[in-house]
Amino acid sequence: MQAVVFEQWKTFPTLKDVERPSPGPGEVLLKVAGAGACHSDVAVFREFDAEHGPAQLQPSYVLGHENSGWVEELGEGVDGIAIGDAFLVYGPVGCQHCAACSRGQDTYCQNAAEMPYLASGLGRDGGMAEYVAVPARNLVPLGDADPVAAAPLSDAGLTPYHAIKLALPHLAGGGRHALVIGLGGLGQIAVQILTAITGATVIATDTKPDAMARAERAGALTVPGGEGQAAAIRELTGGKGVDAVFDFVGAAPTIQLSAAVAALRSRITVVGIAGGHYDWNFYGVPYETELTSTYWGTIEELHEVVALYRAGKIVPENEYYALDDALEAYRRLEAGELSGRAVITPHGR
Ligand code: NAD
Ligand code: ZN
Repeated sequence: MQAVVFEQWKTFPTLKDVERPSPGPGEVLLKVAGAGACHSDVAVFREFDAEHGPAQLQPSYVLGHENSGWVEELGEGVDGIAIGDAFLVYGPVGCQHCAACSRGQDTYCQNAAEMPYLASGLGRDGGMAEYVAVPARNLVPLGDADPVAAAPLSDAGLTPYHAIKLALPHLAGGGRHALVIGLGGLGQIAVQILTAITGATVIATDTKPDAMARAERAGALTVPGGEGQAAAIRELTGGKGVDAVFDFVGAAPTIQLSAAVAALRSRITVVGIAGGHYDWNFYGVPYETELTSTYWGTIEELHEVVALYRAGKIVPENEYYALDDALEAYRRLEAGELSGRAVITPHGR
């Protein structure tokens, strides 16, 4: 079968013929419906190497950590799952028995150091292929919802959902404000989730006008970058500042912007992995402002994301690519030319 393979550190992936996987014990084989191209993959194939980055990301493997598909075949010991049914895949794969995995949070598996991979498409073969084998436990049912359009939910939906849920105490009540910085695959869905599950006023910004126009259509107020941006955002909050900031870039200037607009007792979540430095000090942010990072989400939360999708409250805006054009999708993602999540559809739409 055809697959997008990450073959060597610091090397753009290749499209090549590989053997079709067969599901191991406890696994299922999925016929891939959709595989999203996430900006983290760019870090995987451009920035990391044996010295810098998680050792489990050592190539070679099939990329694609944001997947959906139809059950094609059951591995040994798997039952209660019907062939042909559509599922979203929870990407992270931990030891499956520690305390973190037991609560469905494989991202924080306590035995991660001994695991040979982090997730489907991150150290083990992922979904940018005609077929992918995944643990049956990682399947989240989609029912009669469209599995092709749903693919980005497993990361571009789940990651902001997890970050927003942890920030809910800051957004509950009247007169609250949220800020979304970076309106790409994750940021656009973040705007939709904030609108769906909080009563906060959502403010958004991006360097691209078309991305801001899209966020406005989803209910956000937008403020362009440039001089006076922090003051303009603060003005939209009536001067008090933003209660919860979600930074989907994570560069030094966006973390600085986050700190500059934060309210007293607010929360800043850096989601983007640009690795920007921020020089924290006691006087740098308002009192009791939390500054934190985040990583993906839990299986339970993915069920909740699917519920929002099935209720029409999350509508991923995707650009579809055949498997033959997957490398072009990555090229455009890297060049900032996409205006929606790139979803690879190995079996068409
Ligand atoms: P994307 O390329 O789809 O979107 C990035 C957006 O940020 C683009 O719209 C771009 O125009 C905008 N942008 C870039 N620089 C900006 C700036 N200085 N100010 C304002 N906007 C700016 O990327 P994505 O797939 O949505 O991923 C976003 C980030 O989140 C990436 O860094 C990715 O690696 C990271 N990520 C983190 C997690 C996690 O668990 N923490 C999970 C998935 C992705
Ligand atoms: Zn574990």
